[in-house]
Amino acid sequence: MKQTVAFSKDATNIFFHILTQCNLKCKHCYINPEQHGENILPLETMEAWLEVFIAKSASANVIFLGGEPTLHPDLPLAVKKAKDLGYNSITIDTNGYLFHDILSNVTPEMVDYFSFSLDGATRKTNDAIRGEGSYDICIEGIRKAVRNGFTTSLIYTISRQNVHELDRMAPLLNDLGVDRLFIQIIGIRGKSADIGQARLQVSRSEWMDVVPKAAEQIARLGISVVYPKVFLSSEEPFECAGLVAENYFIFPNGRVYRCPLCEDFPLHSKVFKDNRLFKTPKINENDFFQLNIPEGCVMNKIIQPGNLIYNSDGSPQYKIACCMLKEEVLGENSNLEP
Ligand code: SF4
Ligand code: SF4
Repeated sequence: MKQTVAFSKDATNIFFHILTQCNLKCKHCYINPEQHGENILPLETMEAWLEVFIAKSASANVIFLGGEPTLHPDLPLAVKKAKDLGYNSITIDTNGYLFHDILSNVTPEMVDYFSFSLDGATRKTNDAIRGEGSYDICIEGIRKAVRNGFTTSLIYTISRQNVHELDRMAPLLNDLGVDRLFIQIIGIRGKSADIGQARLQVSRSEWMDVVPKAAEQIARLGISVVYPKVFLSSEEPFECAGLVAENYFIFPNGRVYRCPLCEDFPLHSKVFKDNRLFKTPKINENDFFQLNIPEGCVMNKIIQPGNLIYNSDGSPQYKIACCMLKEEVLGENSNLEP
């Protein structure tokens, strides 16, 4: 059963980048140390920032990210703090290298999801994007997490380099025992901005021909699939999550964004100073959220317009949805919360 997941107005989602260092050098990495900082957040700072967001919403979810968050030796203590504070769910996103023996230092009662990034059904395709040897290590990491009783997700970022292999993921996910698949679409930011839109961005027809069909196929195996809606017909309503939802993308230099597409620019609407959260002065991302344009998402039009097509009268053939708007296909017999 497919459903569009409206932005939740009751839940707050914290995407917490606790460092930007990483052992890999993925070709599409969106991390931009110049904009996001190169410092590693001390435990006390992570704890203080977690406290700020739980005070805003008692039903907050936190996703620990990097860089590679398991490189942070205090990640287990940050997870424990989030648990003690009552965070609704705790996720660790990882490239699968699982540093500091993380699987032995947290438990399935503390971590709701381990999310592994893999960008190909085959070693060849994944390693061309994520680096030599990363496929085998990620697969082994997933197997180990499943063996240790953790609920696991897999994140597959679609670009022109791997869209052809999505329909080959079903048997692999089934064999691994993964519970959920998150399909992302490449954002033209960080290193992707250097490679360029023409080489990475998939067209509407490439996306529509592959993604919904593969999602249905995978859901039939009992694995829930979440993917961004991306393309809206001109009749479908457009909403900007920056205006209606509570998503916060936190970086180690204290910047807090509401929109991931703004992250390559100093457009953050909030900033941490002395562990207190302040609004930033104009112009910031909030000023863009208000703009109503026929193409839908204004930041998409500014930073990655290669996915738009226009009619001869200059009107767009479709709108681009907010990158946070998702379709969800529940796995048949899945026990996961929708
Ligand atoms: S694993 Fe993540 S943070 Fe590390 S290089 Fe790849 S995309 Fe960037
Ligand atoms: S991606 Fe576009 S629509 Fe979504 S929050 Fe950013 S500016 Fe708004």
